[in-house]
Amino acid sequence: MISVDKALQIVLDQSVHLQTETIALENVNGRVLGENIISDIDMPPFARSMMDGFAVRSADVADAPTVLKNIGFIPAGTFPGLHLHEGEIAKIMTGAPLPEGADSVREIEKTKPGCKASFIKILEPLLPGMHVVPKGAEIENGKQVLEAGLFITPAIAGVLATVGITEVCVFKKPTVSILSTGDELVSPAEIPGPGQIRDSNSYTLLAHCQCLGIRCEKIGIAKDQRNHLQQHIARGLESDVLLISGGVSMGDLDFVKDVFESFHLKIWFSKVAIKPGKPTIFATHPKGLVFGLPGNPVSGATVFEVFVRPALRKISGFKNFGNFIVESTIIDKFSNKSSRTNYHPAFTFYERGEFFTRPIQTKGSGDITSYSKLNSFLICPAATTVLEKGGRCKIQLSQNFDLI
Ligand code: AMP
Ligand code: MG
Repeated sequence: MISVDKALQIVLDQSVHLQTETIALENVNGRVLGENIISDIDMPPFARSMMDGFAVRSADVADAPTVLKNIGFIPAGTFPGLHLHEGEIAKIMTGAPLPEGADSVREIEKTKPGCKASFIKILEPLLPGMHVVPKGAEIENGKQVLEAGLFITPAIAGVLATVGITEVCVFKKPTVSILSTGDELVSPAEIPGPGQIRDSNSYTLLAHCQCLGIRCEKIGIAKDQRNHLQQHIARGLESDVLLISGGVSMGDLDFVKDVFESFHLKIWFSKVAIKPGKPTIFATHPKGLVFGLPGNPVSGATVFEVFVRPALRKISGFKNFGNFIVESTIIDKFSNKSSRTNYHPAFTFYERGEFFTRPIQTKGSGDITSYSKLNSFLICPAATTVLEKGGRCKIQLSQNFDLI
């Protein structure tokens, strides 16, 4: 049995980002940038006024209030041909280029019309550079503005537009197949007969993948029979990633590992020192990755968050693919009965600059409703028998941390 850290390292080492493709700037939301972006312009391309007001020479208004001569009007979208000499100012609008000779802008609110036409009273002095963004202060021509591997947020879409990237190189998204296994499973649309339960894992895993913006396909429910499993797994191996739930433990009908072997998959591990989720299998083949997740709904979902999610993020090209693990203060005593690293369902909140974590009472790794209340996992080390109330602990924030 290998440790969580070692298992995660193996998974990540095998998770290689896919090729890139080019898409229109309109469609980049939620994609991962596939190349470094260099700016072809200075931004702003000229010293830019940040206010509606008057372009001035700060030295001329050092003794303000003072009356100066307005020699022009500079709206945004024009380039001023004028040059301010001593005693001269020019009306300027937000976003317009500063005229030659000016070094600052006095906003309209701090001016008044003078007694004579085209004279303006500047009410207060200012420092050079006030309300002006110098040329190239935000972005320098020829410099890198964005790095490959960034998740394209709305703000990044704006940066791409600013530097004129209308066709964007992004990483291809992985294809994921999801297969549930078990003779007891029926579709959620059915009323379970004697001994049957509804398949929930397919939907939990599907939704998890969808949260990552990944296209995935449910490929059904395989019976606990070698042939039936083989047929389904063969189909799933067409995808970049195959997620199988159930059939990975020690039961007489747990054939998933045997079937992996029959396909000559390279099995990297089949037991991890994690609770829940010990019988997790990770395998690879030339075209992709395969995860055999435990059938218990909480176990499968926990393993997804600890191992599968970072793998999918790395394959998708994310530079930051690691799990989000932080320190927190535990607000209820937690007694640990596991000899494996325990990822216990927890609810974490942020108050006055600190995280606080409450372990969630659960009826075990089948308890999907307690899982639905977690927004984090309390990570209790194997050797720790108790975490006292008020003590420090490590937590992993769940994919839905900010939504629950
Ligand atoms: P297994 O890992 O196949 O031994 O299954 C462990 C437990 O998880 C059993 O109680 C199964 O009935 C349950 N289980 C397995 N697959 C699913 C699924 N797709 N949806 C809900 N429960 C499942
Ligand atoms: Mg089973």
